[in-house]
Amino acid sequence: MHHLAKIRRGTVLLVLVLLTAGAVSGYVLLNPRRTWEQTPTYIIDDRGQASISDNDGGLGATIAAITSNDAWNGAGAGTVIEATAGSVAGFTLGDNVPMLNFEDPTGACDGSCLAATFTGFYVTSGRGRNRTTYIVDADIVTNTAYDWTSESEPDGCSGEFFIEGVQVHEIGHALGLGHTSVAGATMYPSVAACDNGPATIAADDIAGIVDLYGSSGGGGGGGGSCTLGQPGDSCTSNSQCCSGKCRGPNGNKTCR
Ligand SMILES: [Zn+2]
Repeated sequence: MHHLAKIRRGTVLLVLVLLTAGAVSGYVLLNPRRTWEQTPTYIIDDRGQASISDNDGGLGATIAAITSNDAWNGAGAGTVIEATAGSVAGFTLGDNVPMLNFEDPTGACDGSCLAATFTGFYVTSGRGRNRTTYIVDADIVTNTAYDWTSESEPDGCSGEFFIEGVQVHEIGHALGLGHTSVAGATMYPSVAACDNGPATIAADDIAGIVDLYGSSGGGGGGGGSCTLGQPGDSCTSNSQCCSGKCRGPNGNKTCR
């Protein structure tokens, strides 16, 4: 389970210690590395979130945020997440039906946990270079112990958490990303009340999702042409290739 925690003093101190110790910085992929084989369509809890006083309990705001070009679909890797409102009455972990629940029927997300994604459902096939791991389910739950708000809520924000930013973070887990050490990135592990910054992905988040899903290179609204390696160019890491795929034996890898 991966979750987004609210900021606590202890969390901030821990992060500072890690940075001065020279810990790795930048995006982190879930291990084993894994992606969806086909773009998942999330069912978003049509009951909405009870504490959000926009007209639909944050349902529309959440769908708009997680499918926005300010979030994962705008990273240049094409459409990596789709979402539709629906019933979560049949919410079951690992049933290959990805759902975002505005409550937490599992009871797993409590204390400082704002929302959580169950990332343990994937299948691996093939061997060696043909080995691939695909995500088959990644349900999301939300802690109703907190007061939530959305950008559509008319009364401003006081001590509340933005449903948009928190759920964009959770979708990052659902797509195969872990926590980054880069402050200000969507995949940073904690967020303060009334901070909706995570709704807009940062350069570090973009690098992570392009590593996983490749660059679509200007098709599908991504815009711009990729100046990194083209298929056949030699490379030593995925980040050197437009496709995000540097493959082959050590010393003789090429972009695919
Ligand atoms: Zn998280």
